[in-house]
Amino acid sequence: MLFGIDTRNDDDWWIGVKAPDIRHLSKYESLMFQGNGYLGIRGALEERYLNEKRDMFVMGSFDKFQDEATELPNLPDIVNMEIQVDGKLLSLNHGIVTNYSRGLNLKNGEIVRSFDWQIEDIKLHFKFRRFVSMADCHLFVSKVEVTPLNRNIRLQIKSGIDGQQTNFGTQHFVESTKRLFNARFVQMQTHTQQSQVKFALTEYHRLFLDEEELSLNPHLEINRRQIFANYSVDLVKNQELVFIKYATVFSSTDKDLQKNVSEDSLIELKQVGRMDYQELLRQSSQVWDETIWNDCLVEISAHNNKPQIAVNFARYQLLANMPHDFGMNIGAKGMTGEGYKGHAFWDTEIFMLPFFMFNIPQFAQNLLIYRYLGLIGAKRKAHQGGYQGAQYPWEAAMPTDAESAPLWGNADIITGEPMKILSGSTEQHVTGDVAFGVTQYLKATNDQTFAKRMGYEIILQCAKFWASRITWNNEKNRYEITDVIGPDEYKEHASNDAFTNYMAHWCMKQGAEIISDLRQNDLRTYEKLNKKINLEKLFRSLILKSAMLYVPAPNADSVIPQDDDYLSYKKINIDKYKKTNKNFDIFKDFDLKQLDKLQVTKQADVLLLLLLFEDDFSKEVLDKNWDYYEPKTTHDSSLSFSSHAILANDLGLYNRAFDYFENSCQIDLGKNMDSSIMGLHMAGLAGVWKVVVEGFGGVRIDHDNLRIQPHIPKTWNYLRYSIIWQTKKLNILVTHRHFSIVADGRVKFIHQKRIYQLEPDERLTIEL
Ligand code: BGC
Ligand code: BGC
Repeated sequence: MLFGIDTRNDDDWWIGVKAPDIRHLSKYESLMFQGNGYLGIRGALEERYLNEKRDMFVMGSFDKFQDEATELPNLPDIVNMEIQVDGKLLSLNHGIVTNYSRGLNLKNGEIVRSFDWQIEDIKLHFKFRRFVSMADCHLFVSKVEVTPLNRNIRLQIKSGIDGQQTNFGTQHFVESTKRLFNARFVQMQTHTQQSQVKFALTEYHRLFLDEEELSLNPHLEINRRQIFANYSVDLVKNQELVFIKYATVFSSTDKDLQKNVSEDSLIELKQVGRMDYQELLRQSSQVWDETIWNDCLVEISAHNNKPQIAVNFARYQLLANMPHDFGMNIGAKGMTGEGYKGHAFWDTEIFMLPFFMFNIPQFAQNLLIYRYLGLIGAKRKAHQGGYQGAQYPWEAAMPTDAESAPLWGNADIITGEPMKILSGSTEQHVTGDVAFGVTQYLKATNDQTFAKRMGYEIILQCAKFWASRITWNNEKNRYEITDVIGPDEYKEHASNDAFTNYMAHWCMKQGAEIISDLRQNDLRTYEKLNKKINLEKLFRSLILKSAMLYVPAPNADSVIPQDDDYLSYKKINIDKYKKTNKNFDIFKDFDLKQLDKLQVTKQADVLLLLLLFEDDFSKEVLDKNWDYYEPKTTHDSSLSFSSHAILANDLGLYNRAFDYFENSCQIDLGKNMDSSIMGLHMAGLAGVWKVVVEGFGGVRIDHDNLRIQPHIPKTWNYLRYSIIWQTKKLNILVTHRHFSIVADGRVKFIHQKRIYQLEPDERLTIEL
């Protein structure tokens, strides 16, 4: 496995660079993201560079600039530091840099950078450390140690809050109030221009010379949208200066707000500012260890530690981007960059949710509560389109928003005209995907409270949407779904897209089942829901319409047609585009209109359908569709590899499965230095965990049961993982010859079509 970032053979939790690589700053900024689900900060260096992209976001603080799409605004920067040594500006572009190392500790999210710098005749040693606290969501702490190695120097440090940040040029914040408190605390107060979210960012600095604290008041520098504190210190040779920056960020959307953003930010900073860096880091690491890593085990013993690093990296990023609260979702790029504007997609339910529901179900529930709150926006969207029920937006920002997808994209390479983005209006399967996610969650957790309070209502509103969305075809005497975009976004006007039709069909049937079940077993919930939705009427319509909706069945060759026309389109060989390992290479030769009429698929589509509904299809159908669609898939979306890996493993194509697993791991960590610059691919990262646990580990939900059917790659010695199934924690060890399983409660599971019953703490070993 080839990574575009350094790793260590003896450390499964470190990624970094052993030499400054200024050309690829943006890639490393994404990879070295730090966050706690409230605050998210890209790993930009402290000192500034031309090609950097500093970003700091607060989850859920969306703003809309004029007629652009709503996005997560890029907050004023608190990471910056400008350091001068005898008037010479620290920059890795100048002087001689030696012993360079910069790394992110994936276990606790700390970045450590150290190097020696020689500028003219001055030699110094620098060590930078920083973290975003998991123990206190408002807190960022950073520390620098500087030692002149060969002579006395004067050191100047400028550090502060820089509001001259934009989202690709869009400024979301009004000119701010900048001020100083107690001669030491610098603060910026500002708010977003449309959504009027208020922010206060406050910084406090402490300096120590040979461990003795200096009582230095800063010299203040205030510019438009900037406030900096300047310090100047004389150092003698070998003396160590320690500079600590504490920063707190508060927003008016915070549920824990006591007084107001400004006072809260200051009060908190005064408290934490008394503690030292190490103590605050310890508190944060403790939360990572005790409430996060303890709950999700994945241990891979293999020929090298790259797979383990990849799965650690993936889990670290998912957890650092996991909303601290309900009412928020994980964007397709989390908070790791400006790509996709912080919007959430079907990526959440179909790709990320399994990781959370099998590890930290409370987090999974938060994500689904977001969808419950999102019923407001989704009902509006349905209504705007002339439909009923709830239609979830293809791109979701605030839960109350209807649709947040942008309307215009890049220029068409053939006509030169700007291209209209149709996904917001036409990519509708997300409304089935959300209901699917809720159902999977309910099966995995048996969370009845959530089901009754929110889950059923989400599913029923989705079902109601589909019942109003499908159209009657008189000639064919059936319901159909015309003019949609399926997972393969290269087909923009598909009719009877298999994925969409199956999802809609499943969703309507699921809705009908819930109604009939509640009517029989839980009249209280039935009546509660009946007040909001006329359940009798909905039931009748779901039964009738699901029975009459066309779902494309496998044809004479056992191939499920991707849509009505796909199989009639021209076939082309796409090997050359696949080989380059770069996304969208096919656009060098074809534009979207042309791709619309070719048997070329952007990402797992029919194959994903087969994976999600595997119980409905025979092995022969799986094999035939793999043979048909896999060669036609460009994998231009990061969502594609993981599904291919899992399916290949199921089909016994073990080498292919491993290759696709490697591809999944390399989406962000790989050698393509352009791939992650706008942020990481959160669904791709969730895919890494999925391939390991659902693929090689064999964990699947089979009807209502847990199924475990593992098969690990031949280069691995063993795989050990934990999952939570209906509140019981299971530990599973898989080798080539057997797997063993132990749980902290009574658990039933299926293996090779046989049902096993496990007593609490009993270890069961099954030969493979
Ligand atoms: C994606 C769509 C998305 C659009 C606008 C495209 O790259 O494929 O899913 O809606 O960007 O954000
Ligand atoms: C994919 C979509 C996905 C979006 C966000 C697009 O490229 O085609 O399926 O939802 O990216 O990750």
